[in-house]
Amino acid sequence: MEKSEVINLAADVAKLIGIRMTRPDLIRKHMSGAFPTTTILYTLDYTLWIDAHYIAVDWTGLPGVLYIYISHHHVAEELRDVIKLRKRSGNLTDYYLYDNIAKQLIAAQKHMTASGTDYFLNEHYSEIIQKKGQSNMKNQTAAKKRPQILTLTLCHKCKTNFENSGHTVVNKGWQEDKERCDYCNVGMGVTYGIFNKGESL
Ligand SMILES: [Zn+2]
Repeated sequence: MEKSEVINLAADVAKLIGIRMTRPDLIRKHMSGAFPTTTILYTLDYTLWIDAHYIAVDWTGLPGVLYIYISHHHVAEELRDVIKLRKRSGNLTDYYLYDNIAKQLIAAQKHMTASGTDYFLNEHYSEIIQKKGQSNMKNQTAAKKRPQILTLTLCHKCKTNFENSGHTVVNKGWQEDKERCDYCNVGMGVTYGIFNKGESL
């Protein structure tokens, strides 16, 4: 898909999950140039990845990532990474997460091969988002009752480290500008509430 089509699709997804995409021009800028980057938008309940080669959504507090769009160019690379992560996953939750992603990517690849297109678009994304959104709400309500042990700004890497060390990490709210990570002081990220896993799931 052309960049403009990807951005239009991302705008539709953003609307569905309650994100106001105020700067499509910036997203386009991130996609272009010698070193294209992925735009990541957050709400309390969702993370939305927008890249020239894929659009994906994930739900705070619920395992699972939904690929809405992925290019043929990107799918093999992504699948290789996910299979590596699946192999390294230290617990069943992570294993199922990466296994589910791998299955989506394999299905997308098959679809592209069968239809001769160079990208995959999940046509059921709005139903899936609405359905999962409802169970996420229940989860979030439960999360609010849990004792929170810390509030920290975390980069993606440190967030993953906290999760891997048995904590549940929940977005604190909608935040457009990233801040310096409280933990490593190197990466940039947004603010999270940290919970002990035993108290949260
Ligand atoms: Zn960090």
